[in-house]
Amino acid sequence: MIDPFGRSVTYLRVSVTDRCDLRCVYCMAEDMTFLPKSEVLSLEELDRLCGAFIALGVRKLRLTGGEPLVRRGVMSLVESLGARIGHGLDELTLTTNGTQLAKHAEGLAKAGVRRINVSLDTLDAARFTAATRWGDIAKVLDGIYAAKAAGLHVKINAVALKGVNEDEFDRMLEWAGGHGFDLCLIETMPLGEVSEDRTDQFLSLGEVKRRLDRRWTLAPTSFTTGGPARYFDVAETGARLGLITPLTHNFCESCNRVRLTCTGTLYMCLGQDDAADLRAPLRDPTLGEAGLQDAIRAAIARKPKGHDFVIERARDPAVRRHMSVTGG
Ligand code: SAM
Ligand code: SF4
Repeated sequence: MIDPFGRSVTYLRVSVTDRCDLRCVYCMAEDMTFLPKSEVLSLEELDRLCGAFIALGVRKLRLTGGEPLVRRGVMSLVESLGARIGHGLDELTLTTNGTQLAKHAEGLAKAGVRRINVSLDTLDAARFTAATRWGDIAKVLDGIYAAKAAGLHVKINAVALKGVNEDEFDRMLEWAGGHGFDLCLIETMPLGEVSEDRTDQFLSLGEVKRRLDRRWTLAPTSFTTGGPARYFDVAETGARLGLITPLTHNFCESCNRVRLTCTGTLYMCLGQDDAADLRAPLRDPTLGEAGLQDAIRAAIARKPKGHDFVIERARDPAVRRHMSVTGG
């Protein structure tokens, strides 16, 4: 699938649920209203939809959420998608908050998952509880170590937040490197209304990088996962540092991805509201596989050139939906 700007769309991110067992303050309001279950696609429907994308050229799938591992029966979807690896699909991955990972790490590895991203913004137990409103860091660390033991390659994703974790990046780089985990720092993005003021918390990663340069030997590398991160080899640990800077460095020209929500809505850009409904064609018995693929192609033809993020609009976000709708 080639979009109007010549970019080949080979990567689909699938939010399998909008629900989550945590309430990270920059991601969700405390009193989030979640979708009624009747609006959410079944796991079989999600599998069929993913199959249609793979038939059209998608090579990489990432399951996300909400928290993907809190969806009941999600491992059956992981297994059915895993069975598609080598049959059009190159890679199946997952982004998780790690709370349920201790239970599922082995199952994920067995199903063919090789790499996972775990979101962890701090190594401090009290800060973690405050940042997630009630989370227990011990569970997440258990999950991360279980993933390592199961042979999964772990990348830690941390949102860089002024006054929250900005004094921890040295420690996190050391901890991650010591375990062979890559660490990826992400600038906060204005998505959906939350009670915190994101303008106050915004931390430019340019500044963070200058601070890290004082202690670490960071060599730019051409390594890429096809995503927006710029990577550096950390000489002292042998692991990598990634920086994702949507607000200070625009990466849209090489965007290869689209995002599917658990209701079958396809967002062609994380930073735009335009979306296509795929649930209706999926459920229309008169359309069949060809009709579903036509609907996907028509959506890709509307992929916009780039996002509209500017941090000055964080109080009145240009994009109204929360990150948990599309899963980042
Ligand atoms: N629950 C899973 C998790 O936390 O990894 C998957 C979904 S979560 C929405 C995906 C990623 O989005 C997490 O790494 C989270 O930190 C990030 N995120 C959420 N809201 C964000 C925001 N406003 N700006 C930047 N990143 C955000
Ligand atoms: Fe849940 Fe992930 Fe959002 Fe945190 S970032 S509230 S773990 S969906």
